[in-house]
Amino acid sequence: MAADRTLAIAAASLVIGVGVLGLKFLAWRYTGSVALYSDALESIVNVVTALTALIALRLAQRPADAALPYGYHKAEYFSAVLVGVMIIVAAILILREAVYGFLDPKIPQAPLEGIAISVVATIINLVWAQVLVRQGRKARSPALEADGKHLMTDVVSTIGVLAGLGLVYATGWAQLDSVLAALVALNILWSGWGVMRQSVGGLMDVAVPPDTQRTIRDVIAVNADGAIEAHDIRTRQAGRLTFIEFHLVVPGAMSVEAAHGICDVIEGKLREAVKDVQITIHVEPEAKAKHAGIVVV
Ligand code: ZN
Ligand code: ZN
Repeated sequence: MAADRTLAIAAASLVIGVGVLGLKFLAWRYTGSVALYSDALESIVNVVTALTALIALRLAQRPADAALPYGYHKAEYFSAVLVGVMIIVAAILILREAVYGFLDPKIPQAPLEGIAISVVATIINLVWAQVLVRQGRKARSPALEADGKHLMTDVVSTIGVLAGLGLVYATGWAQLDSVLAALVALNILWSGWGVMRQSVGGLMDVAVPPDTQRTIRDVIAVNADGAIEAHDIRTRQAGRLTFIEFHLVVPGAMSVEAAHGICDVIEGKLREAVKDVQITIHVEPEAKAKHAGIVVV
């Protein structure tokens, strides 16, 4: 199943995160550069991110039970919000270091070794970020996708840091090292905000994306033979799972069996069109219909 694969990816993320963190700390120890320090601190965030994602994904895999009848899918959003908070804390730590470095500037040592180690770490990150975004989208796992996007911003900021360090060595302007660190911190703040915003949307039951909404309406409209209209369509998402609810208006004299038959057809088609759905349909007779919301049939 896709869920096992997602778990395996999250576990690999953790291992890769620890490896990259080691490399980046090595690069910092070699050079004493504030910018490389900020880069290494950023990697701690990645390790913690991978760990929380792993825990959240394990939880999300649990089947729904009597206590949590809608399942554990939202655990992923909590993990992503937590990660957003940690990213912001890391940014603040880096800003502090940047201010100290700016007031007491030092030219970093051993440039080539430091840069070479950092380049290796960044290539690993770049490859893995691509894997995460693609797999996260495929498995509809907000935790994995957020991880991948965040890792991508890491790669960009490290490239900026390395280019800037080259400039520090070339010009001998030591304060530039701290300026770079501060820029990395701002970039990290921005990515933390993005991760949090998306997850809060999930926790607040934002509707599914417009193209999915259109698909859902079309499927209902085409497959509601015998019904009069459908209205009050509501959608939301929790991890991989999409929840769809709507009212189906049928002729008052129609038997319960016939109305239920229409529901079964629509449910089957929705399940084919949108993967991992949970559907609730409220059937109402024509005379009692309130005719509010969107008419699709
Ligand atoms: Zn209604
Ligand atoms: Zn039924």
